[in-house]
Amino acid sequence: MKFQSGPETEIQFLKGIGPKRALLLNKIGVQTINDLLFLVPRRYIDRTQLVKIRDLNIDADGTTSGKIIAAGTRRTKNKGDLVRIVVSDETGILDVAWFNRPDLKNKFRVNQQIVISGTVTFYGRKQMVNPFYEIISDESNQDESFVYAGSIIPIYPLTEGLSNWEIRRPMQNAIDLYLKYYAETLPDYLLDQHNFSGIKTAIYNLHFPKKLSDASNARERLVYEECFYLELILTLRKLSSQENKKGRPLIEKNTLTKKLLKSLPYELTQSQKKVLDEIRNDLAREKSMNRLLQGDVGSGKTVIAIYATLIAIENNFQAAFMAPTEILAEQHYLVWQHQLAKLNVSSCLLTGSVKTKDKAQLMHEIEQGKIDLIFGTHALIEENIKFKKLGLVVIDEQHRFGVMQRAELINKGLNPDFLVMTATPIPRTLQMTLYGDLDVSILSEKPPGRKKIITKLTTDKDRLKVYKFVQEKINEGRQAYIVCPLIEESEKLDLKAAIKTFEEIKTSFPYNRVGLIHGRLKSTERIAIMEQFRKHDLDILVTTTVIEVGVDIVNATIMIIEHPERFGLAQLHQLRGRIGRGSEISYCILIPGDVSFIYASERLKFFEKTDDGFLLAEKDLELRGPGEILGTRQHGLPDLKIANLQQDRHLLFKARDDAFKLIGQDPNFLKTENTAVRNTLNNKYKDRIKLTRIG
Ligand code: ADP
Ligand code: MG
Repeated sequence: MKFQSGPETEIQFLKGIGPKRALLLNKIGVQTINDLLFLVPRRYIDRTQLVKIRDLNIDADGTTSGKIIAAGTRRTKNKGDLVRIVVSDETGILDVAWFNRPDLKNKFRVNQQIVISGTVTFYGRKQMVNPFYEIISDESNQDESFVYAGSIIPIYPLTEGLSNWEIRRPMQNAIDLYLKYYAETLPDYLLDQHNFSGIKTAIYNLHFPKKLSDASNARERLVYEECFYLELILTLRKLSSQENKKGRPLIEKNTLTKKLLKSLPYELTQSQKKVLDEIRNDLAREKSMNRLLQGDVGSGKTVIAIYATLIAIENNFQAAFMAPTEILAEQHYLVWQHQLAKLNVSSCLLTGSVKTKDKAQLMHEIEQGKIDLIFGTHALIEENIKFKKLGLVVIDEQHRFGVMQRAELINKGLNPDFLVMTATPIPRTLQMTLYGDLDVSILSEKPPGRKKIITKLTTDKDRLKVYKFVQEKINEGRQAYIVCPLIEESEKLDLKAAIKTFEEIKTSFPYNRVGLIHGRLKSTERIAIMEQFRKHDLDILVTTTVIEVGVDIVNATIMIIEHPERFGLAQLHQLRGRIGRGSEISYCILIPGDVSFIYASERLKFFEKTDDGFLLAEKDLELRGPGEILGTRQHGLPDLKIANLQQDRHLLFKARDDAFKLIGQDPNFLKTENTAVRNTLNNKYKDRIKLTRIG
């Protein structure tokens, strides 16, 4: 098909983009020309709103643009580095300064064209401190008439080394050469009904709008379209899952489950019992179970999952328990293997780090049905494992539920029951629309006897005091985590930071045993260190976020989080959930890097006083939008590249109504007026439809 060789062409082959710039574009998610055309500007600058430097009013907010005529960095006594530039236009000169922004060092160069927006003050001459800025172009002598065509400048999401105009120029080429490939994706009657433009106009207006309203209309249309197909596919999926029978009810025999309950050192909570009832009923049905279990960190989801696997095993089926990280898979395995062995249930750990030789052996045993319960990461299913008789799959800490994994399994001729568990609650409106085909159980109560976690937001100045406090607690026999952020993009740098912290902690706690754990370690090393910590052969564990989810060591009651401003609330909550697991009071101490403290303080203060995961998730949603929380990527639904489900709720609801109606009237898309829908489903969403049919 022509479409495939058109906009699906790799971005580096677009005129004006070489391999080098292509790499930068890849970083912001642009792999193909199609991705570029759907790269939604973060915002638009209306040039008619820009004022000349002369006309900026002192003590008022203003936006101006000009050329950088000087740029440099200066050290200050107590405020860190000061990044300064001087901007000029034909009417005057503006001083601009940023405090505490090491990231801006070396960012600015003379002759760059820049837009500056902020509060104007006067100090010898006009100046702005810590303003918003946008580098518009790299040289002053380029073809400005082209870059500035039109009065609305779209501002794209950028990355280090990639400036706005470097996107703008190839964008024009992409439009000129590839827009023609786009066939209409929505039926005329829907376009009319909502006053949307056609697809070609929408793409064009996203990047070269004449008015701001053109741009917003274009975005709305594209958002609506994403939502429309999402809802269409969800509806199809719901319909097909209603027919989805496994034909083999799993009925609790009480041979293993009863023994499990007896072996536990605690009683299940009422809430746990209720959830187990729900799961028991699901399993006993002919229809496959597809259940989401929501429960705050520490609410005791694991034991429920194990219980469910035992029901499957009682029925002579195998079960798989999948975790998001190797560490967590390892931990589940370490915690449960002995207890399982006592019940005569054979279990194993199968992750990417297991040696190939051992792996082959394990896989053989799994195929033979000699292993009942397999612990692994989410990738477990994608590997070429043959199960003898797979009855149940548990997916831990992932509400981006494993549709993909499920589809893979069904492709292998298996149709297991699914239990997906998450500590991140999904706001109700979204749950309805996105997860309508899942049944939801909620663990509303935590095991009794938990002491509160005291959370304290401090600053780097208090570090010694904090260490002294930690020392006291260690002397009392407790253990501590020290968490350093590790963010994918700068993984190496952050790893360095973790190692540095490790060295520093060793110096600060010379009489204690300190360990370091991070994702780059080999699995065997990691297991060894976790075991040391669990057995209390270590007092302090310096760690990256590899311990974010699920790790459960009761005696660890202290956690210091370095650079908490780098984490979202949900993630912080997950981290904090590693402590407060026993009957001792626990302490979570946040030490922000002072730089971004100001920006993140609202979030961190809220975190300090709130320990309710649901409230935190709502706040996260409010502060960051749902994209990050929902992670719409891996759950097998069409990607939502543009839509922000919270902000664009009204479009989502419209789209849902329209999708329902359409399927009600024309379930097989046979009417002429729905040709565009049929074609779009068959081309663009072919893979998703395949998943629908089976999932
Ligand atoms: P999460 O829901 O975060 O996965 P876990 O399953 O890791 O929580 O459980 C947290 C801790 O609570 C574990 O140490 C577990 O043994 C314990 N636990 C679970 N259920 C109960 C209960 N009913 N009473 C007491 N402790 C429990
Ligand atoms: Mg857990």
